[in-house]
Amino acid sequence: MHEQTLAVHAGYEKDAQGTMAVPIYQSTAYEFRDTEHAANLFALKELGNIYTRLMNPTTDVFEKRFAALEGGVAAIGTASGMSAIFYAIANVAEAGDNIIVAKQVYGGTTTLTGHTIKRFGIETRYFDVRNPSEIEALVDERTKIILFESITNPSIDVADFDAIVAIAEKHGILTCVDNTVATPVLCKPIEHGVDLSVHSTSKYTTGQGLALGGIIVERENLVEKIKGNARYDHFNTPDASYHGLVYSDVPLPIFTLRVRLALLRDLGGAPSPFNSWLHIQGLETLPLRMKQHSSSALAIAEFLEAHPKVKKVNYPGLKSSDQNPLVQKYFKEGMASGLLSFEVESKELAQSIADATEIFAVVVNIGDSKSIITHPASTTHQQLSAKELEEAGVPGGLVRLSVGIEDTQDLIDDLAKALG
Ligand code: PLP
Repeated sequence: MHEQTLAVHAGYEKDAQGTMAVPIYQSTAYEFRDTEHAANLFALKELGNIYTRLMNPTTDVFEKRFAALEGGVAAIGTASGMSAIFYAIANVAEAGDNIIVAKQVYGGTTTLTGHTIKRFGIETRYFDVRNPSEIEALVDERTKIILFESITNPSIDVADFDAIVAIAEKHGILTCVDNTVATPVLCKPIEHGVDLSVHSTSKYTTGQGLALGGIIVERENLVEKIKGNARYDHFNTPDASYHGLVYSDVPLPIFTLRVRLALLRDLGGAPSPFNSWLHIQGLETLPLRMKQHSSSALAIAEFLEAHPKVKKVNYPGLKSSDQNPLVQKYFKEGMASGLLSFEVESKELAQSIADATEIFAVVVNIGDSKSIITHPASTTHQQLSAKELEEAGVPGGLVRLSVGIEDTQDLIDDLAKALG
């Protein structure tokens, strides 16, 4: 089936009422037929609903639909993008291990990896996404995952999947890409050899800034990379917390299974069924919206590139961008999503431009149908040190735009007025 059909139908089988819209199963728990049924579900002898912290029928449709769009075999929804990223890491790394992360990632991912998980004894080693060969020297036998973004937020770089995957494969290390900005519509990292993708579905997926959410998607046959691999011992030895279950022996997608059985069980960042339902509504129009976000962003990037007050425009969809060959290689029809940033002379000028726009709202979010303007250095990246800001590619004069789906000319006129 084609993508737009999957976006509307995948993962949903109508119930006995023939309900056209996916129902919201707003329930915490589920009745078992009898105690044997309950025991079978807990023992994985049968699959079914137990408790909404672990699974929910509305969330299940969302997970299946998202996995179908991304080209994965399974997915697991989480309460937010940050919980998805944390669980992807926590599913493989423990105290004494290390992970390799691109320097250019969302500010929350930088603080998670550089500070919070450091306190759990997990070390993060950073590489420049523009120079993936740096990864090689960072790898050792305790390296558990390589994490990067397909389009970085907010420096707007594009990852070279082939280069990163080649190094990871050589060492048998899992790769995980945050594909939030590209969405499964513009880029399917699993087709380029990546093992896992994570998303903040709070962005383009919901599409209208309605709900927080996150998701982890797993590629088919990931077990082949994990089984017998000394890096992932805990998948290959009995799990004392789950009556000796050996994950790599279970005939199900084991990465997302372990997030469900161990991490959602113990840490509990599960999505609300209502938010999953909102995400399902968003997915239906995602392919249509991504075309509009991308074409308007390109027109705006071209306008900004020609403006005398703009020093630099970061938009990989521009033919002049050194990142454009990567967009042509990995992204659908060269579309580069709705996120762009541009640099002006000073922090003060950047802030005055953000304050002067009327359609672009000063908000710290991306991927909304409504256009957004952000000054990262004073907001999303405020907690980063000067060194971290530099490494994340966030100078004081940087302005980030999340281009919505309003009329393109109205958006250009708004920016023209604000720039003066
Ligand atoms: N990843 C990226 C690329 C983001 O832009 C964000 C939020 O802006 C996140 C992850 C975190 O997602 P959430 O806000 O849903 O926790």
